Parts: sequence; structure tokens; C-alpha cells
Amino acid sequence: MRNTDHDTFAEPVNTGGGSTFNKLRLAHSSDSPSVGTDVLRQTTIAKSITMDGIGLHKGTLVRLVLAPADANTGIMFRRTDLDTTDRAITDIPARYDSVIDATMCTTIGNAAGTKVATIEHLMAAVSALQIDNLLIEVDAEEVPVMDGSSDAFMALLDQAGLTPLAEPRRYIRVLEPIALEDGLKKATLGPLDEGFRINIDIDFENPVIGKQELDVVVSPDSFKHEIASSRTFGFLKDVELLYSLGLAKGASLDNAVVLDGDEVMNEDGLRWPDEFVRHKVLDAVGDLALAGAPILGLFKASRTGHAFNNQVLHALFANPDSWEYVTCDEPIDAIADAPRMMVSAD
Ligand SMILES: [Zn+2]
Repeated sequence: MRNTDHDTFAEPVNTGGGSTFNKLRLAHSSDSPSVGTDVLRQTTIAKSITMDGIGLHKGTLVRLVLAPADANTGIMFRRTDLDTTDRAITDIPARYDSVIDATMCTTIGNAAGTKVATIEHLMAAVSALQIDNLLIEVDAEEVPVMDGSSDAFMALLDQAGLTPLAEPRRYIRVLEPIALEDGLKKATLGPLDEGFRINIDIDFENPVIGKQELDVVVSPDSFKHEIASSRTFGFLKDVELLYSLGLAKGASLDNAVVLDGDEVMNEDGLRWPDEFVRHKVLDAVGDLALAGAPILGLFKASRTGHAFNNQVLHALFANPDSWEYVTCDEPIDAIADAPRMMVSAD
């Protein structure tokens, strides 16, 4: 199969008809890629940047350093608190097959047993801003939780700025639908003519949440203005249980929306009436960023969470016929940048 050798160098071929996409054709690894001048290129950040914040689980201060990275290196997490520079121990690629736990947040790990938890809100910001290569250093087992949204990471990345790299960006174009179902939980990842679109619905007995649905074409603009500020949420009884078990030591009203029955406990209330489903979209953007390249497709999910998001990627990559790598000409970015959103909330 052409697209099973994911690391082999590839060059686009002309598909004719002014198509936005260029299918990638595998070439010998010693060949240089020959690409059109208008093919979208990979990016990284322009300079290193540092931020401190509290970790959700341990409740201690974590230092996060984001640094530029070379083309084709992807997003890499590095633990800087391990008394070793052996990269096999310190480094964990931000990929779906590094995920070792997805019960409360998304945790990745490597064969040496090194882990980093709560990566999804940072990954969502990185992916939404179309950053292909980045080194993410943390001096603890978790990414700082900040306010429970992607806001602080968006601001940090904005401050660092983006820089283009010479290599063409590879997208993952979905060719055949992947469908998963577990009781009332459902998710499909299917083909879409252009861009990346997410449609999520949730249904909670809690009257503040109830039924909510959101349909978003993911772009830097739509993510920044409609999704990034939505916070993670929880219920008071669950938070009390976690505290009693010595977990979620850093959890507070500063980093989550907390509900007690029909009451929002946060003094300033919600940022949107449908902040809950917006955050589910945020989580999906972060979890699906672990595909290792931007997705061109439609992700539709009902009542799901981190674990399901990850299972969808495993199912996609288990079936080589269901996707292919492509490059994109400039027009796709213009399309993706148009904030086309349909919002409905009960
Ligand atoms: Zn989240």
C-alpha cells in the first residue's frame, strides 16, 4: 500500500482539475521532494518561551518550556526532571500510540515508563494554531492545568510566534468512515471535501448541562474565538471523592467549572451557556492532534470522551485503506480560516 510506509519521503503528484489536494507519491528516501511553490509548508515556533503553573494531579508548580523544533520531528514532550539526558528515557512523542491512560485526562508514556499527563488542552492549542513541530519540556509528570482551558497556551504560543519551515506539511485525509459504538457512545471519523470539522453532542442529566450540540469547522480563528476559552468541568461530589483519594490535588474553581446540582459554583458563572460541549470539542481537537498530522475529515461524536477519541485514531491507523497522506495548496488555508460555525444549545 502506498500509504503504509508513513515515514518514507514523499512528493506530491498533480491530480489535475485544480484540486486543492496533492496526493503523496512515495519516492526513494534519498530523493528531494519536488513540490509546487504554493504547497503549504510546515511550521514551528519562532523562539523558546516559558510558563509556570499548577499541575492538576499533584497540585505542585510545573515549569513548561516550549522550544522550536526541526521539520518532520513532530510534537515531542520531554521530561527535564529525570537526572538523565538519555532521550529514550526523557522523550515521549505526542502520538496516539503513546497514550497509556485516557480515563480522566490524556496521559502519554514511553517504553522506559516515563509519562506526562493532561496534555490535551496544550495539544489542542498547538494543533489549532497549525504548529507541526515543537519541543515541549516539563519538569513534572503533568502539564500545568492553568484555568482548565487552552487560553494560556494560546497566549503563550501567540507570544512565541510562528515560523515557516521548508518542508511541505502532510495532512491525513480520511478516505473511508471509521465508526465506533459502545452503548450510547458513538463516534465516526469520515471523509470531508475540505478542512477539519467536528460535530459533538452531549446529554447529561444535570439541568445546567442537559443536551448540547456543536458543529465547528476547526481553524485558528474559530478555535481562538469559540473554543479555546471553554473550561473543563466536573461535579462537586466527584471532586470531593478525588480529594479523599488524594487525587486531583490541584483541582479548584480556578481551573474547572464545578457543578453542584443545578448550581454553577464558580463565582463568575459560565463563559457560554454551552461551555460544556465547547470544551468537549476542545478535548477532541487535542486528542485527535495525536494523529501526528492535521486531519482532513469530519469527526462526529456523541457522549464520548478522551478514551473514545483515542480509540478512533487506533481504528483509523489499523486500516491503511481508510486514509492517505496529502499536501495542500494555499486555498485550503483560506477555507479553513473562515470561521464557519453552526451552534445550537438547549
Ligand atoms: Zn479537557
